[in-house]
Amino acid sequence: MSGKRLRELERFIDEVSYPSHCVNCPWLKYERPEHHSSYEVTARCNLNCVFCYAYSSAKAKSLPEPGYYGDENPEAVTVSQYGEPTLIGLEKLEKLFDLLRKRFKGVRIDLQTNGTLLTRPVKADIVMVSLSSSTEEGYARLTGRNEFHSVVRAVELSSSEGVGTIVRTVFLPGINSGEIESIARIAESLEVEHMIQPCSIHPGLKERLGKAGYIFENDTLYDYLNVAEKAKSTGADVRLPGCLLRIIRSMLEQFDFEDVVFLKRGFAERPPEIRREWKFSFKL
Ligand code: SF4
Repeated sequence: MSGKRLRELERFIDEVSYPSHCVNCPWLKYERPEHHSSYEVTARCNLNCVFCYAYSSAKAKSLPEPGYYGDENPEAVTVSQYGEPTLIGLEKLEKLFDLLRKRFKGVRIDLQTNGTLLTRPVKADIVMVSLSSSTEEGYARLTGRNEFHSVVRAVELSSSEGVGTIVRTVFLPGINSGEIESIARIAESLEVEHMIQPCSIHPGLKERLGKAGYIFENDTLYDYLNVAEKAKSTGADVRLPGCLLRIIRSMLEQFDFEDVVFLKRGFAERPPEIRREWKFSFKL
């Protein structure tokens, strides 16, 4: 790659922002390496994504129990980090939002969903919909079900009601590298934020991803930034995870861009876990 391209990517890192979901995250606000507080609805899911980190937790029998994991006065609560929360039905889900708002005055509710069952807008403050392919075939290959059109429709429905909506894409080198720009065009046409994140590789996922065509040699920061910058050049509102941006920017204070960008990521040694304590659960 040329020096010119490296300078473009360096500029991209300077200028790109993080998604609205990351606002007030402890990672950024208090420099604590923690996600927002979360309410786990269920560990079940109606999809079977090849990159899902819950697969690693399920194998290790460490999936979280339903309930609230977090601070006493959270600024935002993610519903949920594991499983598909809409499986309990949209009415029950909105009841949960009401209960959380009643308990935590002024809290922001961020729904994290695969979008397949989001058949109408819901009263969350932010809705993050996972979409990591731009075609029906690719979507079915990644998730095990052909729900591409329902998911795009869910993004459309959510954003049409003025709810802050984010398309969330996991970059999978060798699997969806060629689709990131097309996903960005979908996000751009629906006028929503497009968060592109690298894949976290926890125990058990390497084999699974390898079978699906993941190219581990192309798993550098360079490859990730290269596709994200190209996606942004389509005019889409591309954002990178705030915690990742923070890490990259702090590394760049000490090292040259060329040294940082070709580092290879290691694999996580343990399954993901919620680092906060379980506090309570609502009867829904
Ligand atoms: S992506 Fe990172 S910064 Fe953003 S909410 Fe999650 S943990 Fe926080």
